[in-house]
Amino acid sequence: MDHFAYRHRSLYCEDVPVAELAREYGTPLYLYSEATLIHHLKQIQTAFAEAKPIICYSIKANGNLSIARLMGQHGAGFDVTSGGEYYRAQKAGPADAKIVFAGVGKTDAEIRYALENGVYLFDVESEQELHAIGRVAESMKVVAKVALRVNPDLPPKTHVKTDTSVKGVKFGLDIETVLDVARGVVGHKHVTVAGLHMHLGSPILSAEPYRLGCEKGVKLIAELRKQGHNVTVLNMGGGFGIHYRKQEALPASEFAKVILPAVKETGCQLVLEPGRFIVGNAGILVSSVLFTKETGGKRYVIQDAAMNDLIRPTLYDSFHRIWPVTPKDDVLEKPDDFEAAIPGTLPQDVVGPVCESGDFLAKARNLPTLQRGDLLAVFSAGAYGMAMASNYNARCRAAEVLVTGHTHRLIRRRETYSDLVACEVDCLK
Ligand SMILES: *Cc1c(COP(=O)(O)O)cnc(C)c1O
Repeated sequence: MDHFAYRHRSLYCEDVPVAELAREYGTPLYLYSEATLIHHLKQIQTAFAEAKPIICYSIKANGNLSIARLMGQHGAGFDVTSGGEYYRAQKAGPADAKIVFAGVGKTDAEIRYALENGVYLFDVESEQELHAIGRVAESMKVVAKVALRVNPDLPPKTHVKTDTSVKGVKFGLDIETVLDVARGVVGHKHVTVAGLHMHLGSPILSAEPYRLGCEKGVKLIAELRKQGHNVTVLNMGGGFGIHYRKQEALPASEFAKVILPAVKETGCQLVLEPGRFIVGNAGILVSSVLFTKETGGKRYVIQDAAMNDLIRPTLYDSFHRIWPVTPKDDVLEKPDDFEAAIPGTLPQDVVGPVCESGDFLAKARNLPTLQRGDLLAVFSAGAYGMAMASNYNARCRAAEVLVTGHTHRLIRRRETYSDLVACEVDCLK
């Protein structure tokens, strides 16, 4: 469920026509629906309520301060993967927000920064990192709480670039060696192994990997406890899938069904790190058609959003539904299935202005005939959209707007040319 719907052939974000926002703020434009964000956070909170989970919104999916603030206001903690994300979470979140810190390459400075700021838990991804955290904690005369991130070695479950729980990926500790690593810090004065962490990959459209992961997790927790570790936290990460093509995502309750029994059995505090599930369907990217052309037997729609604005299609071959913001009378107001034949459409490549043949938002996509100035909505762009945006080709990053009912607020201004050179030192001038 989201709050992007057509009314009389005009796309609305909640109660505001998207075309009006494009006029006011320009394109390319990221638009977020507050009701959709909160709906998805609530869905997880409700599904897992009996476990009283700590839900740590994953900042890396979309770290905008206003979005992070909303999450904090509605009871979420944060999952961060760098010192910079820690800074964002802290700046936007409530003072008592619980922050978990994952990532395979934490520097001593980042570890120190997190400890100074009361990090709830480090998700530890290697033996050397575990000891580095111990050394930093010792130098600060504090005790660091960690969860061992285990790679449970499950069958492939999503795109190879975002599958983090198959054998041989860089993430986590091997399930075969995690107990040896844990044995090395039994009785450590500055590190307590307080939890077990798994983040299986993303997006995941089945509960089965979580069931398998939990099965292995329950056994490991028992082993860790035998070693003398007081394991009180089970962190099952994020990765819950969303609707990209049609209505393919599972409701949070399906994941709860397989995760809650493990929580019960271990008596652990449950931590979750959802990002995409909360913000993915809560955002769209709006662009304007610049030109159309036919070449080599292909039809191209050249519009003003590019791979620097949304790199997911290029990076992960991902599918985003695309449809005109104000479809004309001769086509459907909105297709149910964007991959099937749609009357009144022709396959077209939707590309941006960047000088790369890999710069595309969609290939051979069924779209009606478009003209200069027509607006396009690229759906399900709230997660890993703006978060991965760059200035490649010296393109100014897009503006971001948050819609709440009838109101809309700018939450990130469009960059300017002077922003593009703001950090550079023109030393030969
Ligand atoms: C990216 C990430 C998440 C969030 O994944 P989503 O698919 O956005 O839910 C959670 N935990 C860790 C450790 C991550 O790296």
